[in-house]
Amino acid sequence: MTSCTESVTALKGIGKETAEHLQSLHIETIGDLIWTFPYRHEDFRLKDLTETPHNERVTIEATVESMPSVIFLGKNKQRLTVAVRAGRHLVKAVFFNQGYLRQRLLPGTIVTVTGKWDRGRQVIVGSSVTFGPKTEQVDFEPMYSLRGLIQQKRFRKYMRQALDTAVDVEETLPENIRSDYQLLDIQEALEGVHFPKDAAHAKQARRRFVYEELLEFQLRIQALRKSRKEAERGLEIAYDIDSLRAFIQTLPYELTSAQKRVVNEICKDLKLPQRMNRLLQGDVGSGKTVVAAIGLYAAVTAGYQGALMAPTEILAEQHVQSLQAWFEPIGVRVAILSGSTKTKARRILLAQLAEGEIDILIGTHALIQPDVTFHKLGFVITDEQHRFGVEQRRILRDKGEHPDVLFMTATPIPRTLAITAFGEMDVSIIDELPAGRKEIETHWMKEEQLGAVLSKMQAELANGRQAYVICPLIEESDKLDVQNAVDAYNHLTAYFAGRFTVGLMHGRLHPTEKDEIMRAFSNGEIHVLVSTTVVEVGVNVPNATFMTIYDAERFGLAQLHQLRGRVGRGEHQSYCVLIADPKSDEGQERMRSMTETNDGFKLAEKDLELRGPGDFFGRKQSGLPEFKMADLIHDYRALDVARRDAERLVHSEEFWVKEEYEPLRNKLEVAGVLQGERID
Ligand code: ADP
Ligand code: MG
Repeated sequence: MTSCTESVTALKGIGKETAEHLQSLHIETIGDLIWTFPYRHEDFRLKDLTETPHNERVTIEATVESMPSVIFLGKNKQRLTVAVRAGRHLVKAVFFNQGYLRQRLLPGTIVTVTGKWDRGRQVIVGSSVTFGPKTEQVDFEPMYSLRGLIQQKRFRKYMRQALDTAVDVEETLPENIRSDYQLLDIQEALEGVHFPKDAAHAKQARRRFVYEELLEFQLRIQALRKSRKEAERGLEIAYDIDSLRAFIQTLPYELTSAQKRVVNEICKDLKLPQRMNRLLQGDVGSGKTVVAAIGLYAAVTAGYQGALMAPTEILAEQHVQSLQAWFEPIGVRVAILSGSTKTKARRILLAQLAEGEIDILIGTHALIQPDVTFHKLGFVITDEQHRFGVEQRRILRDKGEHPDVLFMTATPIPRTLAITAFGEMDVSIIDELPAGRKEIETHWMKEEQLGAVLSKMQAELANGRQAYVICPLIEESDKLDVQNAVDAYNHLTAYFAGRFTVGLMHGRLHPTEKDEIMRAFSNGEIHVLVSTTVVEVGVNVPNATFMTIYDAERFGLAQLHQLRGRVGRGEHQSYCVLIADPKSDEGQERMRSMTETNDGFKLAEKDLELRGPGDFFGRKQSGLPEFKMADLIHDYRALDVARRDAERLVHSEEFWVKEEYEPLRNKLEVAGVLQGERID
């Protein structure tokens, strides 16, 4: 009899040294041991070689067909080769440094060989061989990641002992849930994870733990969301629906149905007494700005002020231009505050803001300076929210009393991640582009074809259009042989000399220099803008119709899509040329995906598939827990089920009182959710 909380030294055969090794694998108690899952199982099932892919491990039953031959490769090193027949396959089995097999592998002997299948050469590189047909041998043996500190075989013995002796392994899933989904109980499931009877057992065990992990994960998120909603009373912004309708009538275009739906979602939140905490996702060019404007105006009709924070001055200015055009005629007062607002103008502006003489303030980080005080801030929007830190967003929010908050992002987040990473927010999606947009034509070309690319660019310029040239780096680097912005700038300046002006833009320029260059590009003084990825976010120059991206394989899909979104913003047909020669399959797949679709959500799903969830946002940012079993991409159906169950549970009475839910409740406490800890 042992207990999960006891030290592993309570098991037979674990002395001080082994205990230390285990400790460095983060295994101290018997419970820790049991919850160390194998990363895979060695599969000893017999397989047909015809169906075994190259390089896969395989076990076959075979008859020795020839005398073995041995080649000596050096001191104590030798290679033994023998022909064996498995069914209709005559293949070679190779063993290294097991010369003693020579006497036993005689023609006619029946053996069971496990090893790696080299399909091309029809060779099995054997790791183990037993004599006679496969009999009592187990089908699966667990393989743990032990960093070579402990032998697999010994570790398995400890595991066996732990599973056989631990008496207090707790069942976390209540009976009703297990029977609803026909999930194994905890004992059977642990057995199936470590020592499955057969493939079906292993699969059922996995199914249970996937669900359990995802349920716990979703319970944390949903409980947090619930407690936050209850704790945070917000403003009831009673906007004037008639004014809002009239305003929408004055817009130069009809809203898309996705925009209408999202406007409704936002307005509903504004009116509710809870604080809005909503994420608005919309692909580049889907028209988020006008949605933001309508929301801000709604707040203004209810007597509140609104704020819109953008990550760069250029963007802030663009927003001001759009909003002023819409709002000036109806007497809504819009102002901009940025780093370059002059001292005196700033003083006046801040005074007006505090007096409530400004209705909507748009700006950069300048909005969150301490002396910026609002009269009655009711609604806060951050554009391109991922460009701001949590703290910056919080400071802006705290400039009002429980203002409603909307985050906007043009980085499409695959559905699976949206319900995980942003599970505690409500999500609105604009999944439709305004009518009449022409699809951007995207081509993938090699560097040798640069001449053709430049002629096409020149043709566009000659038609009065403008072009972007994007490079991964600023300056030459001896490490990376990549086209760099300075080189490209020099080259293109010479190439277009006397015909078109070329500008250079990169992150090391001073913000005011950047703004000047952007302005010059925006009003057509610069025809070709060579730039690093600093133009990635939000810039709107509808006359630019041509983009070339050098060394495109260096960018992720999401980023390429963001960059491409700088063209295709006006009435003219636009083009994007990816110059890339990716060596990896994944890189080639990325380029192909770009040429095949303009749909940011599709690309995001693809990106997730190619890179995995951890890399999608960058490991730190993702806020995703590490799962032992679950895989957010492949288990998305289970995730969806778990999310719905979690939502139902946290809103049910029984979850919070019944004993059978105690283990699950305890997990929430451990995660700090019940103390009201927040993610944002
Ligand atoms: P993003 O979502 O990338 O911020 P914007 O708000 O900048 O997109 O809008 C992109 C372009 O689409 C702008 O030029 C805008 O005027 C235009 N636009 C937005 N909504 C519509 C619509 N419903 N019909 C036509 N054009 C629209
Ligand atoms: Mg935008």
